[in-house]
Amino acid sequence: MLACIYKNHGVFELTEKPKPTILDQKDAIVRITMSSICTSDLHIKHGSVPKAVTGITVGHEMVGIVEETGAEVKKIKKGDRVTVNVETFCGECFFCKNGFVNNCTDKNGGWALGCRIDGGQAEYVRVPYADQGLNKIPDSVSDEQALFVGDILAMGFWAARISEIKETDTVLIIGAGPTGICTLLCAMLKNPRKIIVCEKDETRRNFVKNHYTNVIVVEPENCLETVYNESEHGGADVVIEVAGNEESFKTAWQSARPNAIVTVVALYDKPMVLPLPDMYGKNLTFKTGGVDGCDCDEILSLIAQGKIDTTPLITHKFPLKDIEKAYDIFENKLDNVIKICIT
Ligand SMILES: [Zn+2]
Ligand SMILES: [Zn+2]
Repeated sequence: MLACIYKNHGVFELTEKPKPTILDQKDAIVRITMSSICTSDLHIKHGSVPKAVTGITVGHEMVGIVEETGAEVKKIKKGDRVTVNVETFCGECFFCKNGFVNNCTDKNGGWALGCRIDGGQAEYVRVPYADQGLNKIPDSVSDEQALFVGDILAMGFWAARISEIKETDTVLIIGAGPTGICTLLCAMLKNPRKIIVCEKDETRRNFVKNHYTNVIVVEPENCLETVYNESEHGGADVVIEVAGNEESFKTAWQSARPNAIVTVVALYDKPMVLPLPDMYGKNLTFKTGGVDGCDCDEILSLIAQGKIDTTPLITHKFPLKDIEKAYDIFENKLDNVIKICIT
């Protein structure tokens, strides 16, 4: 079968690989109908994911049809149309039982697919713990509508959930890339008083302005001032930082009001500094990221009810055989790309 692999530092390559087989009775083999390219794939390509194994098939955002299941798979059946979860989790350890599936203690627990084991930018994928890692797509939901459920939408949903957003809150979301927009969609479900989105890229700002007219969109330079003017208590009640750079990290705690919740789901490429003396007395609560993707059934049901729609994020479509071209567009942010769907 065709598969896009992490050949070595800086190089992904489309190549032929044998079709995966069941290795454990809790596995399933899924025929992939659609996958996507995620910014984390680029992190692998450029060496900022130390756990990534060379030679593995990349890709961790996908939907497909179950082709085969191991004898111990109970919930999922051959022929089911499913989303694949970015996280691999056993469902039985202390962390899984408490919903902290990102910290599953299984040897393949956490982000394994497309990083430590073969992922989904291919024709087939083997999914360990299939009963946990796969979610059935309701008949009324299309593959396109479900494509981001297992990764960036799970991330956005989780970020909005742990941020404890209330209807009286002014919420600041920093970063309007694909994950930022998913976070925005999930924050909107909580009906906060106001949502402000801060984004440096003009294309992305325009995307948010055009699609979500009730949201206040601001450039980083004007973020602090806008947040102070638009909020009732000297800063945002909730800040969700999705952008992942030094400046956005600083903006996150600076724009928060005293006793606010600051949720950091961004992945940084170096350590950030928390200047505690400067924020002494501000009494902020920080929550930090690494998605616990255990809400996929609920997300799929919200999509079926028409409450979440991520299809506008898909700006490009390519067949798997042209994935190298898709990477070029995604990596170099060409042609106003937001997300690419690989068919
Ligand atoms: Zn991802
Ligand atoms: Zn576990």
